[in-house]
Amino acid sequence: MSLLEAYAQVAGDDVIAQLQQLAAPLAGSKAVHVNSTRSGGGVAEILTKLVPLMQELGIDTEWEVINGEGDFFECTKGMHNTLQGNRTPLGEHLLRAYEQTNEENAQRLRPTLEAADFVFIHDPQPAPLLKLCPRRKGKWVWRCHIDASHPFRPVWKYLQQFVAPYDASIFSLAAFAQELPHPQYLIPPSIDPLSDKNKALADAEVESVRTRYGLDPQRPLLVQVSRFDRFKDPIGVIQAYQLAKQFLPGLQLVLAGGGAADDPEGEVVLREVEAAGRDDNDVHILMLPSDAHVEINALQRAADIVLQKSVREGFGLTVTEALWKGKPVIGGDVGGIRLQVIDHHTGFLVNTPEGAALRIRYLLHQPESMRAMGVKAREFVRENFLITRHLREYLTLMVALLHGAQERIELG
Ligand code: UDP
Repeated sequence: MSLLEAYAQVAGDDVIAQLQQLAAPLAGSKAVHVNSTRSGGGVAEILTKLVPLMQELGIDTEWEVINGEGDFFECTKGMHNTLQGNRTPLGEHLLRAYEQTNEENAQRLRPTLEAADFVFIHDPQPAPLLKLCPRRKGKWVWRCHIDASHPFRPVWKYLQQFVAPYDASIFSLAAFAQELPHPQYLIPPSIDPLSDKNKALADAEVESVRTRYGLDPQRPLLVQVSRFDRFKDPIGVIQAYQLAKQFLPGLQLVLAGGGAADDPEGEVVLREVEAAGRDDNDVHILMLPSDAHVEINALQRAADIVLQKSVREGFGLTVTEALWKGKPVIGGDVGGIRLQVIDHHTGFLVNTPEGAALRIRYLLHQPESMRAMGVKAREFVRENFLITRHLREYLTLMVALLHGAQERIELG
């Protein structure tokens, strides 16, 4: 069975026919996605699925990753943090490493990028590549995945010089859009319902993961899956758990995470989290390898409630993954979580550990509302956040870019 046929079974034949119609005028064109890691984090997760689907639709699509080390990743992590609101200026030597690393990568990637009809540059790490490809022939799109609702201005101003010359940019929601001299498109991310992370699992598989990690099936379980990053507020999750446990003594918590190759801060945060959970045998802090998709799937399914208590969040694929598994999500009232957690319907939005604890207690005492929310959650994802919708919007954007300001586009 082809990939598209497999998706037709989840999303419906008409959705696939629409994708084929949109892709027809793009057949044979060459597209390249560029980001900074092949595994770890949401962008890699999306590209793993989007690239083969674009290929199957007849678009010659490649995925390139820029190489970097030390100062470069320190700089780009700093950019990530400051674009999400931290107020620490980036040192000159870090900015030099950023530009230098992009120049080195441009040497290697220039032939591919300059020949492409469409180039999608993901996030700030590879943003300078456009300026370094002067003979580019295609349309270049900057795709910003982060919560840029309140960027630290000096860093955004610096980045803006690289981003402004793009033909378009994509943000996940309107609140993140910036002042830029080109069209900005709003495209939220998506999950792949057929991936190991999201496919249906047999009860025995969920059970075996429970056993592997010493989780008691008879007692309620909270799960947060996230890189160990302060914006994900893992310490706040432990506090919420501790507060709720005063009323629910059997409560268990899993914080499952892993490092991302482009995230140098993970180790430090992990140590803080381990210290915060040290005295409680029901707090399970799991460092998982980046290919532990089935384990994460099983942990999300084993959970009664999934938490994503972020204080900034570009989108939060972990939220989508949990909703798709019929779990209510208690999430931070920020960024992309607001698109997904519809308060009192698919979960609850919270601002503090106390707020999260209150909602945990409420849901665990109301199993019927918890189940009803789970049903709504799954349907909400089916309608809005599957990869087929995401791909449709990418294709629409590509067709639109080819046709410039034309008022009417005929799709044959
Ligand atoms: N993820 C994973 N292993 C981990 C932590 C996260 O596979 O240890 C996955 C998670 O399931 C999700 C993605 O990485 O698919 C994280 O995306 P999200 O948008 O939630 O956050 P980001 O890391 O991009 O800020």
